[in-house]
Amino acid sequence: MRVVLLGPPGAGKGTQAQIIAARLGVPAISTGDIFRANVSGQTELGQQAKTYMDAGDLVPDAITVAMVKDRLAEPDAKGGFLLDGFPRTIAQAEQLRESLADLGQELRRVLELVVDEEELVRRLSGRRVVVDGQMVQRDDDKPETVRHRLQVYREQTAPLSGFYESEGLLSRIDAIGEVEEVTARALKALGVDDAGQPSSD
Ligand code: ADP
Repeated sequence: MRVVLLGPPGAGKGTQAQIIAARLGVPAISTGDIFRANVSGQTELGQQAKTYMDAGDLVPDAITVAMVKDRLAEPDAKGGFLLDGFPRTIAQAEQLRESLADLGQELRRVLELVVDEEELVRRLSGRRVVVDGQMVQRDDDKPETVRHRLQVYREQTAPLSGFYESEGLLSRIDAIGEVEEVTARALKALGVDDAGQPSSD
């Protein structure tokens, strides 16, 4: 099962990606997490990505697409994957489609987590993550950067919703409510039950 999770910053993609991927038995692949790991590991990729990330801008497509291709070529992604945070531009979506086609593969479904902007700003400004055992605010969760990331989302990523809708792949999921409720809506859209098996209805 090859699935893309789409949605603005703060929609709960990371949380849902972990849970849904575990149910489906596929790896959750988060481009944001891979970039952050490279930044803290001070790799060349991390150095290239850091300036963009700190500004709340997208890392250039060429860097991002090459990184995702490498990740999808790893053995654990052969039987399926759940992508979180990729694609984020139409160009990335087109390149993903091409790379999959080269492998004789295609996406099963794109789940768009839908949350209104007021709620997003509220969630992001209160969000804390654990780093070295401490609860800290991510640099790019500072209010000015949050506003910019939402603008980048509207301009560059939101058009993917129409792109995937016209391919007949899109399911919009109401992402307001308890985590488990949102998961249940997502699994229903994928046509699987709680254990990740195809559901009868
Ligand atoms: P969020 O969904 O909360 O914005 P992510 O962890 O997905 O956070 O991404 C953090 C940052 O990593 C983004 O603001 C961007 O700079 C970079 N990034 C992640 N995924 C991509 C992508 N597909 N293309 C370009 N940049 C990306």
